[in-house]
This record gives sequence, C-alpha cells and structure tokens, in this order.
Amino acid sequence: MVVLGIESTAHTASVGIVSDRAEVLGIASDMYRPPAGGIHPREAANHHVELLPGLVRQAMDAAHVDPSGIDAVAFAQGPGLGPCLRAGATVARMLSLVWEKPLVPVNHCVAHVEIARVLSGLEDPLLLYASGGNTQVIAYGRGRYRVLGETLDIGIGNFLDKLWIGLGGKFPGGPALEAEAKQGTELHELPYSVHGMDVAFSGMLTAALQLHRTGVARPDVAYSVETTAYAMLTEITERALAHRQRDHVVLGGGVACNERLRGMVRTMVEARGGTMFAPPRAMCVDNGAMIAWTGRMAFRAGVTAAVEDSAVLPRQRTDLVPTPWRTD
Ligand code: AMP
Ligand code: MG
Repeated sequence: MVVLGIESTAHTASVGIVSDRAEVLGIASDMYRPPAGGIHPREAANHHVELLPGLVRQAMDAAHVDPSGIDAVAFAQGPGLGPCLRAGATVARMLSLVWEKPLVPVNHCVAHVEIARVLSGLEDPLLLYASGGNTQVIAYGRGRYRVLGETLDIGIGNFLDKLWIGLGGKFPGGPALEAEAKQGTELHELPYSVHGMDVAFSGMLTAALQLHRTGVARPDVAYSVETTAYAMLTEITERALAHRQRDHVVLGGGVACNERLRGMVRTMVEARGGTMFAPPRAMCVDNGAMIAWTGRMAFRAGVTAAVEDSAVLPRQRTDLVPTPWRTD
C-alpha cells in the first residue's frame, strides 16, 4: 500500500510518499524562513500554497509513481497554525477528489510518535516531542496517545527562536544557539521551571535576555540556557518513565536534532537500563513521510474522512485522537 502525506502545520511544507515498513519512496520539503522576526501564519500559508503543487510533483517523480499507484492521501489535520493547515488540507482534498482516492486525516503529534516508533523498532516507547510549537511527553494507553507532561506556556523551539532573535539573530534559533553554546564555558543560574510533569519557559526567556543585557557573553547565555532547558525536559521524561513503568524513549520534533539534548536523555535512559532512539534529522523535523506513514496505518484500520468532514483542527489534542491501529 502506497500513501501520499502532506505536512503543513507550521513553517514546513512537505510531501512524502511511503510504502510498507515506512519505506520512504519520495519526499520533497521546503521551509518558510521569515526575512525577520518569527513566523507570520498568513505568510507561511502563502508559501505553502505556492510551493505544495510543485512538491507533490517532485515527491511523485522521486517515488516513480503516478496517481494510479497511490492508495490514499493523508494530511495533517492539526494541531498547528490555521492558515497553514488549510493550505495543506486544500491540496489533499483536491488530490483526493481528482484521483478518486480516500482522504485520511492525521494528527501531527501522533505522526511524530509513529515515525519514531517504526524507525526505532521499539514496540511501546515513550516520546519526548520537542518542536517549535509543541513540547510534550507522550505515551500510549487505552486506545489513545496520552500527554503525560507538556509546556505550560511556549514550545521549547519557540523559546529558543525568540531568545536567538532577542540576542540579535534570525529564525530558526535552535541550530544557531547550539553552535553558540558549544563555545560557552560558564554556567549561569536560570529559572528551572518544572511543575510535576510539566515545564514552562517564558521566565527563562526573560532571565536569559536579562543576563545578556548585564554583560554575559552570548556563548555563555546559550550554554546556560541549553543546560537548564534540556535538564528540565530530561527530568520530566524520567518522571514519566518511572510512573508509566517504561524503559524506552524516542525523540521527535526539530529540537530533537540537538546533540546536547540527545546526549542528556540518552544518559538518563541508559542509566535506567533502557534504550533511547533519535530518528535521523529529516525524520525529526516536520515532514510529509511521517504523515503518510501514520495515514497508512490509520487507513488500514478504517480511518477516512469525507471532504465535507475534513475541516482542519488547529487545537486538536493528541489525547482526543483514537488510534485504532494500536491495541492494548
Ligand atoms: P519543528 O517545529 O519540529 O519543525 O522544529 C523546528 C524547531 O526546532 C525550531 O524552533 C528550531 O529552532 C528548532 N531546532 C532545529 N534544530 C535544532 C537544534 N539543533 N537544536 C535546537 N533546536 C533546534
Ligand atoms: Mg512537529
């Protein structure tokens, strides 16, 4: 079974085509990069509208398939920025109607879990999902993926991006901060905000910008922020493992590309006797292949949507989405 998947929840427009065992037959992506400041939803959506038709063609060419070789069209229904989601959903609906193929809605966060799960070979891992807009610890239980802990304010990636822009840099901030942090040596104290299994970052954002204003060099600010923020994520992941009696962790989201975060989580998990798996970069960031792969599982389990019932859900919660392809 071959499924085409469209991702457009935020800054990335991506089309992926996968077959059995999550083999990626073709993928084509393009990320919207604002000239200054953060993402403007409407401008990102315009970018997606302009580029998606060409990305569909590119992915199909790479996969050497024509429409007759596609069994279903999946799209990210939510959560995400409304205008961006609508751009991807509109293209998916049109392909579904013109090709006469079933339309399959997919939750973006569930797709991060599923691609990491199949690539890791781990049956029932816990996911630390650290991306621009989302920061969640997710585990499966009784028919749904459950959010065990999450950010109470902004996503970790948005936090890193805002900080970097505040320090004079450009979006995306995460990779640049990572490079900067490697030059840092001095650890400065910052608000460590863990509440049970939840975290918060806005206090650290204010404090880190203040550190810089009082003369702390940028590499030391970056080093202190990475150390503190990733320790917070590692702590809530460990607490979730302990409470859920799990051993294994997979990572997802753009921030999961960060070597420091990977290393800290790995150290914690291995000390508990478990395994940590981080997908390759292209499968950590938002991508159409994860939507296609999850769509394939959902479709096989009978999930489809009529065009008139396929509205996007910008605030769709991970734990409200049934996952009939998983059994307890
Ligand atoms: P996503 O929303 O999953 O596509 O991920 C995008 C976010 O990941 C942005 O906020 C980036 O700044 C962040 N990001 C990407 N690479 C890294 C990295 N190496 N370290 C930290 N954050 C990163
Ligand atoms: Mg994402």
